[in-house]
Amino acid sequence: MSRSHTDSRDLQRGPAPAPNAPRVVAVVDAPEGGYVDSADLEQREVGSGIDVRLRVLSQSEVPELARRAPECIILWHRISLTAEFFALNSCCRVVVCASVGHDHVDTEAARASGVAVYHVPDYGVDEVADHTLALALNAVRRVRELDAHVRDGGWEWRRAEGVRRLRGAAWGLVGCGRIGQAVARRAASFGMRIGFYDPYVHPGTEKAHGWTRFWSLHELLAACEVVSLHVPLSPETEHMMDRAALEALAPGAVLINTSRGAVVDEDALRQVLDRGRRTGRRRARTGRRRLAARTSPGPPHPPLRLLLRRVDDRTAAQGRPRRRPGAPRRAGDRGRPHRVRPGARSPSLSDVPSRRAQRRVPMPLAPKEAVARPVGWKDWKWQQRHAVRTAGAIKEYFPGCPPEVLREIDAHASTRRFQVTPYYLSLIRTDGDRLRPLEDDPLWRQVCPSAPERADPYGYDGESENWELDEEMVTPVAQHKYGNRVIIRYSNICHAYCQFCYEALRTLERNSSKPSFERRHWLQTLDYLADHAEVEEVILSGGEPFMHSDEQLAGVLADLREVRPELIVRIHTRSLTFNPFRVTEALAQTLRAHEVQALGLHITHPNEITPVFVEALRRLQSAVPLVFSNVPLLRGVNACPETMRELSMSLYRLGVHAGYLYHFMPRSPKSELFWVPVDEGRRIVRSMKRHVSNPAVPEYVLPHPTGKYTVPLHDADEHPRHEQDSDGVRLLGFVNWRGEHVTYPDPE
Ligand code: SF4
Repeated sequence: MSRSHTDSRDLQRGPAPAPNAPRVVAVVDAPEGGYVDSADLEQREVGSGIDVRLRVLSQSEVPELARRAPECIILWHRISLTAEFFALNSCCRVVVCASVGHDHVDTEAARASGVAVYHVPDYGVDEVADHTLALALNAVRRVRELDAHVRDGGWEWRRAEGVRRLRGAAWGLVGCGRIGQAVARRAASFGMRIGFYDPYVHPGTEKAHGWTRFWSLHELLAACEVVSLHVPLSPETEHMMDRAALEALAPGAVLINTSRGAVVDEDALRQVLDRGRRTGRRRARTGRRRLAARTSPGPPHPPLRLLLRRVDDRTAAQGRPRRRPGAPRRAGDRGRPHRVRPGARSPSLSDVPSRRAQRRVPMPLAPKEAVARPVGWKDWKWQQRHAVRTAGAIKEYFPGCPPEVLREIDAHASTRRFQVTPYYLSLIRTDGDRLRPLEDDPLWRQVCPSAPERADPYGYDGESENWELDEEMVTPVAQHKYGNRVIIRYSNICHAYCQFCYEALRTLERNSSKPSFERRHWLQTLDYLADHAEVEEVILSGGEPFMHSDEQLAGVLADLREVRPELIVRIHTRSLTFNPFRVTEALAQTLRAHEVQALGLHITHPNEITPVFVEALRRLQSAVPLVFSNVPLLRGVNACPETMRELSMSLYRLGVHAGYLYHFMPRSPKSELFWVPVDEGRRIVRSMKRHVSNPAVPEYVLPHPTGKYTVPLHDADEHPRHEQDSDGVRLLGFVNWRGEHVTYPDPE
């Protein structure tokens, strides 16, 4: 603080003031303020040599105050001193704001007329910090909501599902001054990780505290579960929480504003909240106007949850407002912002990389994992128990899901299976508020029943088999298609159901005619394997083999090893994408102990590669020598060169061998939605040949009922030719692995 200006300590020195010290002090408040009812406290502090008077006046009386101004004004924040005041001012030389904020004083006009303006930056630091924590605890732990539930006579523990744990979560401070730091110390004591955005704080502050510094506001917003605002209101900070900033908040984040209301753009907030209109409502105030802040207590992962400072919260936070100001500071004296070093990027909170960064590089924590999950989330059985199976459950999860989609799910669920794990739902992109799944989201398209079946004779009819020819079924659960290998239909159920499933008769049909895996069928199969030495490999497929318990799986593998110790055992799975928590250390140990040699990984899109996926993959790779990919080619999901490039390179980077790219099978459901013409598939794979590392390019195959056919990529005489059947459907004719001429529907 510059000594050339008077400060309140000068005022306290009693009967011998400096020659130019003020002799009259006015304590100014508004009638509606009510912060001061007498100036006796101030009088006692400055001593009898200075005349202290209380002036309670309205804003319209401020010009009059200016004309007969005292030398010093102690100003409460309901009265503004504008440029007009300073233009009319006759002899006031010092204004002391009895608050941290000083936005109610035009400091530029004060400076121009030689008036020093002071504020009290340490006013209410602990109280505001305490109150910030109280608001955060209430929002995160849903204290008020659950308290109301119990007071209403409720005792339903499920109401507390989704209440998040603070330990390990990330708290982001916008503004790291006194209050911000006090909040950080409190949050850290809960085991939370602290990040901050404040370009004015000296470099090295983050090292001193062991916190993470963000040089970008939006990166901080995206990385933290709780964000609190601790900035003064200034032209720089007014509406700093604009629409873009509000939308940058992580899903389910809690935003707490205990600084001035105008730091948040109310219109933008209203738009964001309006889009979040939900069944539950909570009224909140910010700035001077009321706003409706919607919250949803129901779903486990509510969308944006905003807790805004009531206009009186600051007062509540500070307790009794009237107290002797400490050491006033020159208003606006924040120094210069520290600039980002050229090329410097905001670091992420140690293990919470920014969502954008996570999208590019699989890291140990999923984007959505940055948000706390319900207890049990990482238990694969919990995921199955809580899998969504009805339109009602989808509506609870995505309250904005269009009614026509819900009707389709309802209609569909009566005959076919519909099931999605919460984990997979959490990967589905939604509109900003997580209310409505995006129609074109590649993951949602796979699991959401929509679009009709294709009407031609090659469409799905609920009866005709695609792949399992009767003559190949050597036992009810064993299919011997190729000479040296046998597929075991080990399961008819899955973690979640792909609405295009090539095995739909087995998996999707509620009343499937396919035999299930029973002990007697298995004994038959073991006998067959014992008698057929030409079988070198057994493939456990399904459905999803990992829907069985470790004990059941260990029993089957032990049986195989007993009957044919030298058999190669391969397992096909989609666990890593639908429920990666299934891949426990115990499962890996089972696979290791029974020497499973290969694992075919069913995956469709790069968005399915999350840190949890990577963790599961690493576990499998530690147990199984060969992990390779099986990718169905699906329109609207991955049938574009760029997506396939990203998927293939990501898998390659993770050490997954490129396996097959499967063309769509004719008698599979929802072909209207997913079918890709063969020429389009060839174009995509040709593009991959140019832009994807060679070992990462999968083999493009038509899964014809008589066996897979590798699609040639370039035109040549011997390559497939188009023809038409009697119904006018375009067919692709080619010679299969047995040397027979066969056809495959290939509508344009
Ligand atoms: S996981 Fe595999 S078997 Fe199960 S529904 Fe999806 S595609 Fe079909």
